[in-house]
Amino acid sequence: MQIQEILFTQGFGTRRVCAGLVQQGHVTVEGKPVSDSLAEFEAADGLPFTVQGQAWQYHEKAYLMLHKPAGTECSQKPSTYPSVYTLLPSPLRLRPNKGAVQGVQAIGRLDQDTTGLLLLTDDGPFIHRMNSPRHHVPKVYEVGTKHAVDARQIERLLAGVVLDDDPKPVRAAACEATGETALRLTLTEGKYHQVKRMLAAVGNRVETLHRSRIGELELPDDLAPGQWRWLDADDLAKLR
Ligand code: URA
Repeated sequence: MQIQEILFTQGFGTRRVCAGLVQQGHVTVEGKPVSDSLAEFEAADGLPFTVQGQAWQYHEKAYLMLHKPAGTECSQKPSTYPSVYTLLPSPLRLRPNKGAVQGVQAIGRLDQDTTGLLLLTDDGPFIHRMNSPRHHVPKVYEVGTKHAVDARQIERLLAGVVLDDDPKPVRAAACEATGETALRLTLTEGKYHQVKRMLAAVGNRVETLHRSRIGELELPDDLAPGQWRWLDADDLAKLR
């Protein structure tokens, strides 16, 4: 693929802007300067290049994880708090998709005060699959509660509780106390405010909420709040 096309697909601007960046000497590929905007490279996932000193990697499709900090909204048009998208470098927000600038999108949403593992991608069918109710990928939440957690509450969360918008009970796939006012809850569905509403239904209240795992993919300890990283093939295999 031509280097100007590589930059274009990765969100570095229009084809004309990308050609200019190369011609003006702002681009290196695998550590070597490139000034011919039509120079061909094999566009393999992971191909390293720099644009105006910014290190980047080619990815045909972008899959990434973000450690969502508290006080951020998972919306492109946030109402009160900054959007999680402001935590991402501009190429991820400007990647073209089928002719339009679309960038990556979050797979599902976390509340503004929830922290932890958020996945984002520009692969529409993948988002659809991950969000489908038929795709029961477990999501693990670390919950801090207002009142002490007791055995009866855990039993009820596992047996199923009825929320206000659906007579069909929702149940935790797994639930264990991890402290006097802490529990680990695994859900295979993603209803609106589900953890908060389930805890309220058993007479408790969520004080803090953190998503630590999706499928077999854990939020790594060394990814600080606000940081993101690419997902590799091993990571993606953990989401099946
Ligand atoms: N359940 C909630 O109540 N909030 C979240 O952010 C995620 C799950």
